[in-house]
Amino acid sequence: MAQYDVLVIGAGAAGMYCAALAGQRGRRVLLIDHATRLGEKIRISGGGRCNFTNLHASPAQYLSDNPHYCRSALARHTPQDFLKRVRHHGIRWFEKHKGQLFCEDSSQRIIDLLQAECDDGRVDWRMPCTVTAVTPEAGGWAIATDQGTFEAPSLVVATGGMAIPKIGATDWGLRLAKQQGLPLVSPRPALVPLTFAREDWAPFAELAGVALEVMLRCNEGEFREDLLLTHRGLSGPAILQISSYWQHGDELVVDLLPEQDLAALLLEAKQGSRQQLLTVLSQLLPRRLTELWLQRHDLLGRALAEVSDKTLRQLAHGLQHWVLRPDGSEGFRKAEVMRGGVDTRALDSRTMMARERPGLYFIGEVVDVTGWLGGYNFQWAWSSAFAAAQAV
Ligand code: FAD
Repeated sequence: MAQYDVLVIGAGAAGMYCAALAGQRGRRVLLIDHATRLGEKIRISGGGRCNFTNLHASPAQYLSDNPHYCRSALARHTPQDFLKRVRHHGIRWFEKHKGQLFCEDSSQRIIDLLQAECDDGRVDWRMPCTVTAVTPEAGGWAIATDQGTFEAPSLVVATGGMAIPKIGATDWGLRLAKQQGLPLVSPRPALVPLTFAREDWAPFAELAGVALEVMLRCNEGEFREDLLLTHRGLSGPAILQISSYWQHGDELVVDLLPEQDLAALLLEAKQGSRQQLLTVLSQLLPRRLTELWLQRHDLLGRALAEVSDKTLRQLAHGLQHWVLRPDGSEGFRKAEVMRGGVDTRALDSRTMMARERPGLYFIGEVVDVTGWLGGYNFQWAWSSAFAAAQAV
């Protein structure tokens, strides 16, 4: 049986970073992953350019049953701290918008950074390698794998969330937590397109490809971002963001003309106007959407002057208060992340260790901490990895 100081399961963002930092502290670390290709989720992230952090990351952009849990880790390893390493490795990056930092060339640069940091920490690897059993032992943990048995005082679980199973995502970390008696917050897809019953969506399906900036609200979530209509429902950054706040049965409220008083605009335009309603509205909204909307309200082909003020007000209200009830999401197959995970109430927020299971740590997406779209999820991976790496 081979002996280490730290065993890390899952060589994704959090696992590689934690293994590297623990190794650099002089710990003997073994990093295990069952995948054949390294860092697949990092590779496909940010459209291939990895939105590796967000300069504005703070607890306000994270969802969890325990919203304060992420505070300590985020404060101890900030976006600037990770950026220092990015600079050290000579990786060129740019800020897209709203503090989102992307690689200038490709996500591979971040995978290379993590591998180099692991080399620097003399991390041992087993990959692909399947873990078949995890057993608590006096003073540590033993894991049985298809490449032998390993033992260490610290076991770090960094197996990520369940999004995109075809590139190796599993619920392994959740099952282990449950087996060890830790509570879970039910996992569900997040940052995911939402879908509608076929008959409800049929009229809008022909608008697939139409995109516009909207204000979208659901429960405590509120985002001003782009919305994209698709054949099956809605997507785009606005929907991905709000999907993290949405649960089955909830309504979405869409303002198609954020921060504008459409009723006032229409009533003013009506004064002495000989224009078609369609002409006026399609200066404000995509034409295909405007046509469909007016058709559904029997207003297509009408001159603005002949529509009553009351009808114009109702029309404006409908466009600025479009209530939609999705019937589902595209699921883990298309989600970027998982909401829920290991319940943080069972974990220590400074070290990420399970309070009742000394030496067992959970970091990254497997934990019930889910960031907004925009680099926040990787920042959680780095910050939680750092916290555990200082403790192991
Ligand atoms: P992962 O990076 O998923 O790593 C988990 C690792 O564990 C994997 O290597 C997996 O093979 C391994 N594993 C799983 N089960 C087992 C097992 N049983 N045995 C051994 N190994 C196992 N976030 C951002 O902040 N910015 C972005 O630009 C961004 N873009 C994204 C785009 C897409 C399409 C997707 C799907 C996600 C994106 N995310 C983004 C989210 C981000 O990728 C994740 O939040 C982040 O990778 C989580 O890190 P992690 O280390 O916890 O998990």
